[in-house]
Amino acid sequence: MIAEVIVDLSNESVDKIFDYNGIEGLQAGQMVLVPFGNKDIEGFCINLKENTDVPTDKLKSVKEILTKEPIINDNMFKLADFMRKSYHLRMVDILRLFLPAEMRGGRVHEKLKNFVMLNEEYYNDNQNLVLRKNANQQQNLLCYMRANKVAEYSKVCDMFSRGAVVALEEKGVLRVCEKVVERRPQIIEIDKKDITLNKAQSDVLNTILSSNGGKYLLHGVTGSGKTEIYMRVIEDCLKKGKTAIMLVPEISLTGQVLSNFTSRFGDNVAILHSGLSSGERFDEWQRLRSGKAKIAVGVRSAIFAPLTNLGAIIIDEEHDSSYMSESNPRYNTHEVAEFRAELDGANFILGSATPSLETYERAKEGQLKLLTLNERANKREMPKIHIVDMCAELSRGNASPFSYKFQEELKKCIDEKNQAIVFINRRGYSSFVRCVECGYVAKCTDCDVSLVLHKEDNQLKCHFCGKRFRVLTKCPICGSDKIKQGAIGTQRVVEELKKAFPNVPIFRMDNDTTKTKNSHMDILKNFAENKPSILVGTQMVAKGHDFPDVSFVGIIDADLSLHFSDFRSNERTYQLITQVAGRCGRANKSGTVVLQTYSPKHFVYKKAVDNDFIGFFDKEINLRAVTNFPPFSKMVRLLFVGDDELRVKENLSKIYFKVKDLFKNYGKDVYYLEAMNSPVKRIQNKYRYQILMRYKNSLHDEIIQKLYSIVDDNKDKKVSVFVEINQQNLS
Ligand code: ADP
Ligand code: ZN
Ligand code: ZN
Repeated sequence: MIAEVIVDLSNESVDKIFDYNGIEGLQAGQMVLVPFGNKDIEGFCINLKENTDVPTDKLKSVKEILTKEPIINDNMFKLADFMRKSYHLRMVDILRLFLPAEMRGGRVHEKLKNFVMLNEEYYNDNQNLVLRKNANQQQNLLCYMRANKVAEYSKVCDMFSRGAVVALEEKGVLRVCEKVVERRPQIIEIDKKDITLNKAQSDVLNTILSSNGGKYLLHGVTGSGKTEIYMRVIEDCLKKGKTAIMLVPEISLTGQVLSNFTSRFGDNVAILHSGLSSGERFDEWQRLRSGKAKIAVGVRSAIFAPLTNLGAIIIDEEHDSSYMSESNPRYNTHEVAEFRAELDGANFILGSATPSLETYERAKEGQLKLLTLNERANKREMPKIHIVDMCAELSRGNASPFSYKFQEELKKCIDEKNQAIVFINRRGYSSFVRCVECGYVAKCTDCDVSLVLHKEDNQLKCHFCGKRFRVLTKCPICGSDKIKQGAIGTQRVVEELKKAFPNVPIFRMDNDTTKTKNSHMDILKNFAENKPSILVGTQMVAKGHDFPDVSFVGIIDADLSLHFSDFRSNERTYQLITQVAGRCGRANKSGTVVLQTYSPKHFVYKKAVDNDFIGFFDKEINLRAVTNFPPFSKMVRLLFVGDDELRVKENLSKIYFKVKDLFKNYGKDVYYLEAMNSPVKRIQNKYRYQILMRYKNSLHDEIIQKLYSIVDDNKDKKVSVFVEINQQNLS
């Protein structure tokens, strides 16, 4: 028997299958230890076969089987194949996605603990057992064990002394044994809600439940009760003996979604996100693999959960950009999920209040069945959005970051002991620092971006590489001390709000305050427990939270995402505003939103105020159609990154001419091709250039393979070339 092995090294030169002599009991999908070069390394056995072309004297043998059972099944191998073809990934990089990182190299194991157990003959009084009269500890321990039968070793030692445990063990009364204990992530417990579906919800549910392998887009306004539908779909899967995966953006996991799921499904749920310890992640994964847990709830990577017989794959907040993996290994979660759903004949459900244009267009074309919830579950009106023109505000003499309307509504909310969410899409204190005299702007030494002032730590920080610099008191160029700060960020908003509301608890949630484990959860919990209170934050506050007492949402600078030079900027802005506005008025209280802008007439704001997604979609999709942007084309970026700028540019032009040559065959079906600097020219001292192209969708399968070949044929060790398809982040 010959084993085909992928070795656990991510390196161009070993990205192939190696043949080894198999050993007794080996199955495809197991991890193995194999001799490689002059040492032993781990690998994945991907197949077993009878013969090999490798000469017998060269053929080495598998040394050891590392996993008790196969951890990768046939369908997952098919998925790996699909990903390899679509995204041109190394096999090992894909297989690594399929298991917890620390499992490789044996860095994490099952957690074992010692337990003492009472032997059955001693459950009741036993003639053979004679304990000395003054052996009180032993008497008490025996008594305790008769009541409990099993107890943790360390605990009984603490309670009764180790001597007593040893004595009873020697007498054959107790035995000590090792047992596996599960490490479980921390979850805020809530009571299970008893909800009767409304008519719209049950129509949606019935449609989904009547199908196997159906594909859906659930477009439901914020607060329409989508989560409740997901849970019913999953309930149905369990009833039919099937499993389910539900994906959510990272931040939603810290909120009520998790609590809702665990209160409904208990131990059937396993959670997978980046905030878990490696032990927790390993144990949750094991529970899924062993079949103890049947529902995986998690972020993007949970799409690789080790489940079989899937009945549903759900992607909540499907428009969220985190579903696109934009560093190695690059993949598109929607495509991977859809492929996996097809393999298992599972229902595939995308849900959002603000679907991406790409997804909504697919629904219009009939590739996904469109399901709609137009009303909130609580039957209330959607929150009212007031647009405030900040230019007019300035001419009325208000130079503060908060308009009069903002101040008035926030005060009302606080007076009524309600909660407010204030959204500003910029962390730190101010966006940049600039010398008024000579125009010098403080920039990172390693990246081509301006630094952001963080007043709390009294530092300037680079938001791309994290490097820190001293705060400027004088301009390093002209020596002037007239240093000006740019637009405000979260820290400054909190500072200003504290002046206005000194007695109200104010919480801040952004990348800086959420670095440690459970910090998201703690902030949200504190916010929930204090009334009145204010939560200030970046887009983290816009995602999925369901706080019943939030009656005001303030958007400090709505234009931030609008003026990005990215074809998705209108779409992103519409989504952000609708999502953050959707955080208020979700239960018994109605909600008010104040949106501050310098472009009050922009159509994106008008559509958001009218809560007119379809109107927004129609206008924006027309724009995309006439300009040939996705979804009416594929957009591919070849990103070149390297230390030596000249060498990066040489590679760029070499490949650019090859692509140009290739595109000659396609005439008008190629809409755009250009080589240029990346928007951020340098990150962490590496130069970045790019080739951008757009071409007709139907040519994608053919063109992308040719692009991969061009990139492969022109490899240069000193320059990395990344191929990105319809990517979300173009920096
Ligand atoms: P969405 O995910 O669409 O934003 P949620 O599922 O979070 O909305 O629902 C919003 C709120 O309405 C939640 O507090 C939820 O418990 C409640 N809810 C959902 N369905 C119903 C219903 N049929 N009747 C009453 N309340 C409901
Ligand atoms: Zn200066
Ligand atoms: Zn930097």
